[in-house]
Amino acid sequence: MIALARATFVTALLLVLAAHAHAKNDLFDLEWKELAPGVHVGQRPDPMRYPVVCNTVIVIGSDGVLVFDGGGFPTQGDQVAAKVKALTPKPVKFIVISHWHGDHNRGISPILDAYPGAQVVGHEFTKAAMLGAPMQRIHKAEVAGDARDTAEAIRKALADNKFLDGSPLDPAERPFFERFVADNVAHQAELARMKITPPTIVFDKELYLKLGDRTVELRHFGPANTKGDAVMLLRDAGIVASGDIVVAPIPYAFGSYPSNWADVLKQIKATKYRVLVPGHGPLQSDAAYVDLLIETLQSVAHQVNALVTQGKSLDDISKAVDFAKVEQRFTRNDPILKRFFDLFFKQPVIPAAYNTAKGIENEKLTEDAK
Ligand SMILES: [Zn+2]
Repeated sequence: MIALARATFVTALLLVLAAHAHAKNDLFDLEWKELAPGVHVGQRPDPMRYPVVCNTVIVIGSDGVLVFDGGGFPTQGDQVAAKVKALTPKPVKFIVISHWHGDHNRGISPILDAYPGAQVVGHEFTKAAMLGAPMQRIHKAEVAGDARDTAEAIRKALADNKFLDGSPLDPAERPFFERFVADNVAHQAELARMKITPPTIVFDKELYLKLGDRTVELRHFGPANTKGDAVMLLRDAGIVASGDIVVAPIPYAFGSYPSNWADVLKQIKATKYRVLVPGHGPLQSDAAYVDLLIETLQSVAHQVNALVTQGKSLDDISKAVDFAKVEQRFTRNDPILKRFFDLFFKQPVIPAAYNTAKGIENEKLTEDAK
């Protein structure tokens, strides 16, 4: 009886340890899927888990490989390099960066270490932002302990049962935020290995990259999520990778250009893709989600422009913009999706639209520029 009890206890302990080890190690783990011959996508299964991890696409041609958004975290870049090695002996020739936000590029150095001949490719603005104030602002915040402080604030929010803004925490949100705090250890460990690797090849409107038998088309359709978004088109396979112009299930709107963003989405839709790979979240095989984004961004831009014309302040506008027609279609009343629709979309999209209407720069390249 005692032996049995002890065996059960040891088994339970091992299960707990295994679960714990798994929880610690899988934060940046990608699941791979072949979308077409020689086209592979790597995605973290839970797009809402924090920190967010971008989708990576590997494209293999007859004489080399292209990686689109190789990773925001070095552990992600390690996996991408290992995946390419496992798939083909051909070298990585190009690493394309969809935009300057760190979760798409600060983890690509392991791929550059494994393939030193690879060129980093991005829009001109992406290079300028990575060399200038936008990336510096993030870097400074991180050195100052931004991510650690956020985790600490969330730990306190859990203890107080109130979110950072004082709103009550829904009991259904607690497991998400408990994991958020636990994941901070693995997140912090990445910071020391992160590197800023700006593009060595830049383009303005379009660029065609040859991989022997395969041509990869890069397009910049105009300002959308950032002023330098690069979209990848694989015309031979009907695949489009959008970077954060499309993010599901909740869009990210920090420093964006809502009205123009809607126009860019229409241009992506016009490519008649078979599969759309968003910057984060599930693959799209139709235009339903893109249409919802277009409707939402047009509505925000329209409302904000009207209120700016009436001379309203940003504060008043923030209180007045109505999301009722669209919010539930994003959140489906899930408390975490509601929380992040507020944090990642509603809160940042209004100042973004306001700035655009007032001619204020959303992504200042220098610290003093207006
Ligand atoms: Zn992103």
